[in-house]
Amino acid sequence: MSGCLFCKIISKEIPAEIVYEDEDVLAFKDIKPAAPIHILIVPKRHIPTIIDVDDNILIGKIHRIAVEIAEKNNIASSGFRIVCNCNRHGGQEVYHLHFHLIGGRVMNWPPG
Ligand code: AMP
Ligand code: ZN
Repeated sequence: MSGCLFCKIISKEIPAEIVYEDEDVLAFKDIKPAAPIHILIVPKRHIPTIIDVDDNILIGKIHRIAVEIAEKNNIASSGFRIVCNCNRHGGQEVYHLHFHLIGGRVMNWPPG
């Protein structure tokens, strides 16, 4: 989708530190990491929010990839968080569905 930041990262118009790629999914480092490990996992197809999801297999695949990336970064046993912000109250800033994989430090609950 034209004008979408993450579509531009997917099409390589805008550079990113890519850590995983297949035909459906891209994962890259967050430009403003909130923790030692902070990776964004996105579907290649433009889906604005989690409300718009019409493909549960794709969401399952993204979660499996998140766990694989966590294992690769040695944060699986220490623990991590997968976050999907939705709309204004959820704090969504980029309206291309993405899952934050965050780890490498202890995190607080509830979120602020
Ligand atoms: P959200 O608030 O859930 O929409 O998260 C958007 C995330 O995208 C934030 O954590 C930003 O730091 C991150 N972000 C914004 N621009 C870029 C970029 N060019 N490359 C990587 N991450 C980005
Ligand atoms: Zn997009």
